[in-house]
Amino acid sequence: MKRSFGQAVFWAGVYIALSVLPLALVLVGPLPVARGFWIEFAVGLGFVGLAMLGLQFALTARFRPIAAPFGLDTMLHFHRQAGIVAFMFILAHPLLLLVLHPVFLEFLDPRSSIARALALWVALGSLALLVMLTLWRRPLGVAYEWWRATHGILALLVVFIGLVHVLRVGHYISGPWKQAVWVAMSGGAILLLLYSRLVKPLLLARQPYRVAEVRPERGDSWTVALEPDEHDGLDFTAGQFAWVTFGPSPFSLEQHPFSFSSSARRSGRLEFTIKELGDFTATIGKIPPGTRAFVEGPYGAFTLSPDASAAVFVVGGVGITPVMSILRTLADDGDRRPLLLIYAHSRLDAMTFREELQELSTRLDLRIVDVLEDPHAGWDGESGFVEPRLLERQLATFQPLAPEYFVCGPEPMMDVVETHLIGRGVRLRKLNSERFNIA
Ligand SMILES: Cc1cc2nc3c(=O)[nH]c(=O)nc-3n(C[C@H](O)[C@H](O)[C@H](O)COP(=O)(O)OP(=O)(O)OC[C@H]3O[C@@H](n4cnc5c(N)ncnc54)[C@H](O)[C@@H]3O)c2cc1C
Repeated sequence: MKRSFGQAVFWAGVYIALSVLPLALVLVGPLPVARGFWIEFAVGLGFVGLAMLGLQFALTARFRPIAAPFGLDTMLHFHRQAGIVAFMFILAHPLLLLVLHPVFLEFLDPRSSIARALALWVALGSLALLVMLTLWRRPLGVAYEWWRATHGILALLVVFIGLVHVLRVGHYISGPWKQAVWVAMSGGAILLLLYSRLVKPLLLARQPYRVAEVRPERGDSWTVALEPDEHDGLDFTAGQFAWVTFGPSPFSLEQHPFSFSSSARRSGRLEFTIKELGDFTATIGKIPPGTRAFVEGPYGAFTLSPDASAAVFVVGGVGITPVMSILRTLADDGDRRPLLLIYAHSRLDAMTFREELQELSTRLDLRIVDVLEDPHAGWDGESGFVEPRLLERQLATFQPLAPEYFVCGPEPMMDVVETHLIGRGVRLRKLNSERFNIA
């Protein structure tokens, strides 16, 4: 599956149209008495901010047709940025009104209406908490799973109170059909949340998997093999990933994204190779065979185009997993396109898939360049970090026509490699990146 520019433009257009739909609604029908530019501007910010907040649910609902042209990681990064913009718009709405006309303080004053003031303070507080927890989750030590659970609830609360506020003020929402549009938009957001947190797990429950094998790999990693439990399994394109839950229920808060590491041609059995990096992944090696698992996917656009003439992979550490799936699949296909793998890892003995990569290089037209961060005595290959001069040295020896590039690894490495490749004139549509830290 590759990114389509046309589809991306279409979905971006839909997003913008829905964000400004509340403003367009205002212009339909007779206009109420004007109250001055800045007041209307503040109201407009509130409207657009609330619409953007509702759309946040669509960005995280993991709809494959919407995510495909962008890549799910890009969608989630956009979700994060859009959330901050929506927060600023919504916050600017009361601030501007209060500064321009202190009479609006009445809305937040419990002496005027305790229910209204309480609801608005709860909405503003929830929104601030939502953004704060997202920006500073790690320093605050909040576990990802708990953050994700509260994130949805807080967002829902803000959208609901926002809707009631818009309807109760009713300045631009006088007619019943305008109210119906607002209710439908907010209802849509709530349905999206229910879909991703309730309907999707229910659908997953109908297609369970069983852990068939857990085997150790070099580099503190484990390969977990899953087999479908009385169904046909799923098809994926090499390089994609899925959200995986281990245990009896698909409703678990522990749902993690992992790239398929197995060949896309071996239908049925799926393999994921997982590095021990945190609370959950440190327990992977202890999962007993026979454990139930649920696989939501496939997602992602980190995939090789069928018409690419060649490919260059620049990976670091566990970033090898999606590339391993691509290489295994190409080997199963008997593909002979030229391939270059620049693989950075700490030491040779910590190189995940070391033996199999050697074997694959005999079946494919594949050259492997190891980059050791901590080289042993006598190592005469590349060492240190992947940096522009190293890239230039290696790319100079690999000059087939316009290869596709794949970058996956630690953030600093990805930043350096992407910047260098773009500076080298590599077109964005030829550059595929997979970032493992989307949250
Ligand atoms: C598209 C994609 C593909 C990935 N493929 C692989 C792979 O093939 N092999 C591999 O070892 N790792 C992969 N990862 C990374 C893997 O998902 C995280 O290392 C893992 O979720 C960390 O969980 P933890 O509880 O052990 O670590 P923690 O220390 O609890 O978390 C470390 C960080 O990982 C992220 N994270 C934690 N839990 C989740 C979650 N449920 N969903 C999303 N992010 C989370 C958060 O940013 C968190 O701060 C991939 C990530 C993404 C986004």
